[in-house]
Amino acid sequence: MKIAILSRAPRSYSTQRLRAAAIERGHVAKVLNTLRFAIDLSGDEPDLQFRGKRLSQYDAILPRIGSSITYYGTAVVRQFEQMDVYTPNTANGIGNARDKLRANQILSRHGIAMPPTAFVRNRADVIPAIERVGGAPVVVKLLEGTQGIGVILAPEIKVAEAIIETLQSARQNVLIQHFVKEARGRDVRALVVGDRVVAAMRRTAKGEEFRSNVHRGGTVEAVQLDDEYQRTAVRAAQIMGLKVAGVDLLEGADGPLVMEVNSSPGLEGIETATKLDVAGAIIDYIANQVAFPQIDVRER
Ligand code: ADP
Repeated sequence: MKIAILSRAPRSYSTQRLRAAAIERGHVAKVLNTLRFAIDLSGDEPDLQFRGKRLSQYDAILPRIGSSITYYGTAVVRQFEQMDVYTPNTANGIGNARDKLRANQILSRHGIAMPPTAFVRNRADVIPAIERVGGAPVVVKLLEGTQGIGVILAPEIKVAEAIIETLQSARQNVLIQHFVKEARGRDVRALVVGDRVVAAMRRTAKGEEFRSNVHRGGTVEAVQLDDEYQRTAVRAAQIMGLKVAGVDLLEGADGPLVMEVNSSPGLEGIETATKLDVAGAIIDYIANQVAFPQIDVRER
C-alpha cells in the first residue's frame, strides 16, 4: 500500500517508527506535514493539494494530529475520508477524543465506567457538584491540560471551590472529578489497535505525587491486562470512533475506570516499556483494512 503519515514532527520517535515499520513491510510511506495541505473544494470531486501540487493517490493515511492544530488537522482528515482514502481514525473520532467534555459525555452515555465527573460554569453550582462526585479530596482538571499540568488534588471543599473560581475567572473550563484513591498514584495505558490491546503499561507516580505522568517523575513498566481491562479499553476506543488509540485507565475498587482516550498515542514510552513492535501492529492493521475493507456497522 501507499500510506501518508500526517505529522508535523517527521523526526519524532513515533513518526520515525511508523515510517520505518511501513517501509520494512514493503509499503510506500511518506510523512506529510498536515499544515501544508490545501483543501480544494472547487471541482466536482473532493480534492487536496500538497505543497501547491495535486496530491498523488494514497491508499491510507495515519493522522497524528497535535492538539494545537485540531481544527485544521481534522478538516484535512475529513477531506481524505471524502476522497475514500482509508483512515483508522476519522475526523469525528479525533474531534471526540480531543474535547474532554465531549469525550466524557459520549463514554458515559455508552455505559463505560469512569470516575464520577461533573462540569459546571456557575459559582452556585460548584459545591453541589463537588458533593455529587463524592466530596473532598477532589480532583480539579483544566479541560485543556496535558502532561499532568492543570490536574490538581484539592484536600478540602473550600480549597477546591477557591481553585475552581480562580480558574474560571481566568476563563478556563474545569472538570470536577472524584479522587480515585485506591488507584494509589498508578494508572494504566492500553494501546488499542482495531479490536485488541496490542501493548499495555502501568505508570506509577513518584513519592507523594498522585499524578503518574512521566513528565511528573512517574515510572513505567509493562503490564499484562486481564480481560475486563482489555475489553473496556477496546470498547472505549470503538465508541469514540478510533481504531488506533491510547486508553488511560485507573484501577478502581470495582474494576477499570476510563480517564481518557488519546487519538495520537506516543509510541516511545510503550515500546520501550514493553519491547513490543507497536508501530508494526498499527501498520499491519491498516494494510489489512486496505486489502480487506470492513464496513463499520455504525457508519451504515
Ligand atoms: P493529563 O491528560 O494532563 O495527563 P490526566 O487526567 O491523565 O491528565 O491526569 C494525570 C494523572 O493524574 C493521571 O495519569 C493519574 O495518575 C492522575 N489522576 C487523574 N485523575 C485522577 C483521579 N480522578 N483519581 C486519581 N488519580 C487521578
